[in-house]
Amino acid sequence: MINFNIPPVTGNELQYIQKAIGNRKICGDGEFTKKCSQWMEERFKVQKVLMTTSGTSALDLAVMLCDLKEGDEVILPSFTFSSTATAPLLSQASLVFVDLDPKTMNIDPERIREAITDKTKVVIIMHYGGISCDMDKIMDIVKEHNLILIEDAAQGVMASFKGKALGTFGDFGCYSFHETKNYSMGEGGALLINNPQYNERAEILREKGTDRSKFNRGQVDKYTWVDRGDSFLPSELNTAYLFAQLEQADQINEDRKNTWNFYYSQLEDLQAKRQIELPYLPEGAQHNAHLFYIKTKDLEERSQLIQFAREQGVQLVFHYIPLHSAPAGLKYGRMSGEDQFTTVESERLVRLPMYYGMTSEDAKKTVSVIREFYENR
Ligand SMILES: *Cc1c(COP(=O)(O)O)cnc(C)c1O
Repeated sequence: MINFNIPPVTGNELQYIQKAIGNRKICGDGEFTKKCSQWMEERFKVQKVLMTTSGTSALDLAVMLCDLKEGDEVILPSFTFSSTATAPLLSQASLVFVDLDPKTMNIDPERIREAITDKTKVVIIMHYGGISCDMDKIMDIVKEHNLILIEDAAQGVMASFKGKALGTFGDFGCYSFHETKNYSMGEGGALLINNPQYNERAEILREKGTDRSKFNRGQVDKYTWVDRGDSFLPSELNTAYLFAQLEQADQINEDRKNTWNFYYSQLEDLQAKRQIELPYLPEGAQHNAHLFYIKTKDLEERSQLIQFAREQGVQLVFHYIPLHSAPAGLKYGRMSGEDQFTTVESERLVRLPMYYGMTSEDAKKTVSVIREFYENR
């Protein structure tokens, strides 16, 4: 079976984990945690990066820093992973889902504009598949209405818009290093803070509501409980694994892009014949080949394709069930405006296997299975 994902390994992971063990420090904020956050600060030009235990906890921490109150509204896409929505729920905020742009499957900026009320405090966007949202329009809207912007850039590590890294546009950017993402530490994430006014409080909320980070830097002579908080520090064992991946980030990116470009070139004629649709790359969006999807005619055709591919040994998967119609979405949120595209487009979308080190034989096999399916239609 050709799996849709295999977690990345680049070679130095074990050596770095051994180093972390030898350091006699395996809790958070040791050598490798610092190396990972510094690497990202330099590479992505971010003034502060805090490693977290997951992409979800990076979102949780970002939303905690927004100090939302019950009744405050958060605008977010319906087509996204549940973590984009569970974070604001921790603050009792109301979820306002909006429709997407069918070309990219990203949030539609015009729908954001229409959803704004005097209760709106935060906008969370998600860069689907590492292909940037329309950041020119979105930045205009959040500035005009003085809203806090959080980027769920879980899928966007090493991707950019007009040369600027995804995750560095909003007040906060959230990365994931889950094993299904381009760079991995098993479970893990990072919070990018682009607005320095949040730096100090972010450190405190991340460290169980204490000022231990200041204490560790020698800025205070004892540490104490000063605020709300939680524990978001990943273990050194995990960050050691991640650092090996970050050192090879360009190689991983290039390898994935080769597979992505191969898929695209081999399926382009099916798009020309209007049998399927392929991902769309807006001008200025430099993507990271996080995933490759095709769109079938409809839900029925998608189910048949998945079944056909499974019989041929290729695992195709789909996501997401739109959040506004999911059980928790119905309970905690509302859709602003019409669901013109979210449901119909999500039902057509199917992901092809995509991971670091995928062999060209496996990519060829995947293509030939899809082509065979469409030849017989
Ligand atoms: C993976 C993902 C998350 C969650 O990341 P975890 O590290 O698994 O918690 C959040 N949002 C999106 C869009 C994701 O793809």
